[in-house]
Amino acid sequence: ETLNWAGFLSDIEGIAFTDAPQTVKLKSRDYFWYSPILNQKLRKCWAHMVVSPKTEAEVITVAAACAKWRIPVTPRGGGTGNYGQAVPLVGGIILDMTQMTRILEIGTGFIRCETGILIADLDDAVHVSGQELLMWPSTRSQATIGGFISGGSAGIGSVRHGVLRDDGNVRSLRIVTLEETPRIITLEGPDIQKAHHAYGTNGIITELELALQPAVDWHHGIALFDEYTQAVQFGEALCREDYDIYLISVVDKGFAQFYDKLTDVFPEGKHAVFSMVGPDTIEAFTADAATHGGHVSLMMNDTEIEQAKLPPAYECSYNHTTLQALKKDRSWTYLQVAYPQPYDPAADTTMLAEYGDDLLRHHEFARERGEYQLFAIPLLKFTTAEKLYEITARYEELGCTVFDAHVYTIAEGGMKQVDPVQMAFKAEADPYGLMNPGKTSEAEAVAVLGGSGDALP
Ligand code: FAD
Repeated sequence: ETLNWAGFLSDIEGIAFTDAPQTVKLKSRDYFWYSPILNQKLRKCWAHMVVSPKTEAEVITVAAACAKWRIPVTPRGGGTGNYGQAVPLVGGIILDMTQMTRILEIGTGFIRCETGILIADLDDAVHVSGQELLMWPSTRSQATIGGFISGGSAGIGSVRHGVLRDDGNVRSLRIVTLEETPRIITLEGPDIQKAHHAYGTNGIITELELALQPAVDWHHGIALFDEYTQAVQFGEALCREDYDIYLISVVDKGFAQFYDKLTDVFPEGKHAVFSMVGPDTIEAFTADAATHGGHVSLMMNDTEIEQAKLPPAYECSYNHTTLQALKKDRSWTYLQVAYPQPYDPAADTTMLAEYGDDLLRHHEFARERGEYQLFAIPLLKFTTAEKLYEITARYEELGCTVFDAHVYTIAEGGMKQVDPVQMAFKAEADPYGLMNPGKTSEAEAVAVLGGSGDALP
């Protein structure tokens, strides 16, 4: 190790840090273990120390010191990403953002805040003003808002408001660059794409502004069906402008085995739609369930669901489904599948016929650029990487797009390509390539690791 830690520490004097091995190891991990493939590659990647700035001024001091001593920096929020986004590939520091939790302004239709605040705390604060966030991941109680913008893409609320990258959802990002004399760059409007979903490779986001909507007393609903197709068609029927719906998540009957607390309302043998429904839409929701051959087994608002000690619908949606399965059985993992629109169930029918024992169906509805879309996060019984990629290839032969959840790079994962806009901004925000090195593309990973991506410790 040739890095000058003494010089670095002297430059950041007064700023909280730790090099206690236990803490450093813990803070170097996220939920990459969802993927046996990533688990193999990332489980021994550790930073050298964790630095926890409390203010933007401290972030600037740390950024300057990292640039001066050429120390790699991996920002970290809650560490709930599941592609190893917050795992340092080549050591350096973990920049723990969770001390930066100030809310700066709440106005009609927007909030401005620091980025280390937990999403649940942020949403609670926003509710006091009679408003709510447009969307959040199912990890809202562990994840930070900065981590969601940098590592996430969509979530609960997306069926109503679209995905994070859609116009107007994120209104501005304030970024500290990784230079000897760090600059502050504010991105607004379409420029947000320069740093959104960049895995902390394009500057340190210290503040952001998000759009809000008037709060709704969302009810957690479950509708049950005998046939999976009925459940999907019910979900399609719910995708209407005049319905107040925040979540539509369809899961195979096979998921019932993972939800002990829900046996009465999600019994074995029934496929389920987990939903969040506005009070004005409950009647239509119930009627539509009946029209599609099903019935509603649960409808409770937040207070009622808490009193009943049942999990909220969102903890049975998005990647929380995978978590519930993994809690019971570590041999499951998952895929992320998008379909050509409009959705044609033929691909799923074929996959079920060919791999039915290895796949459990799970579909989510979301809007993207105003259009409703259906995508899938099926559970997959993991045997070998070869088998996983064989199943991936089969989905793609059938016209689907699989976003690889088993790689740690942006280009080979959700983006499917190197983003020239982000790479151009990186040259500005991180001229020495110190930010989360190796995460932009396989080619960068090979360069920083001095070998293939498989050559990790
Ligand atoms: P971290 O994991 O700490 O960081 C994520 C990335 O952001 C890292 O690359 C990190 O370097 C970078 N980063 C963090 N803070 C900053 C900052 N201030 N400036 C620059 N870069 C920064 N994701 C979804 O999109 N939708 C879902 O519904 C969803 N459901 C999930 C369910 C489960 C059970 C799990 C385990 C994960 C899920 N995820 C989901 C993924 C993840 O939880 C979310 O994306 C989450 O918002 C990440 O926030 P975090 O604070 O934990 O970020």
